[in-house]
Amino acid sequence: MDRVKGKRIYDYLKVLLDFETEGKSVVKTLEIARKFSLHPSTVTEMLRKLSEKEYVEYIPYRGVKLTEKGRNIAKTVLRKHRLLEIFLIKMFGYNMDEACNEASSFDFLLSEKLADKICSFLNHPEVCPHGKPVFRSEKCCYAKIGAGRKRTKNSNAIRVET
Ligand SMILES: [Zn+2]
Ligand SMILES: [Zn+2]
Repeated sequence: MDRVKGKRIYDYLKVLLDFETEGKSVVKTLEIARKFSLHPSTVTEMLRKLSEKEYVEYIPYRGVKLTEKGRNIAKTVLRKHRLLEIFLIKMFGYNMDEACNEASSFDFLLSEKLADKICSFLNHPEVCPHGKPVFRSEKCCYAKIGAGRKRTKNSNAIRVET
């Protein structure tokens, strides 16, 4: 998979997870098209690819929803995205839009190892500058903060949704 194509797949997965976090788990092609300012047929084509990879599932007449597989990937990439945003703002004085754009260009390329290092460096933040959840990583975040912190804060963990 080439880099640009890869990025586009993650852009879709991230947007779908954002919709889901806002309480909308089934999303219409048109809503995604509007979000990306793309023609609906372009979006339909991409969604077909995502469905072939079993990242999304078509719900007839209603739209698409993330599969468990797609959701787990989206959470991993969004975690990296938000850690990078915080890092860029804090270290280099980026504004939120710049940080978001910059993070989007390489969040999906960041290794787990580096993401965890940035997470530790930032002291395991729970929300990004947009107020959205920074999904927790079992290995990184709980190992360090586990016992001492309130369990109620763990609701953003990367886990299988029911
Ligand atoms: Zn962003
Ligand atoms: Zn962490």
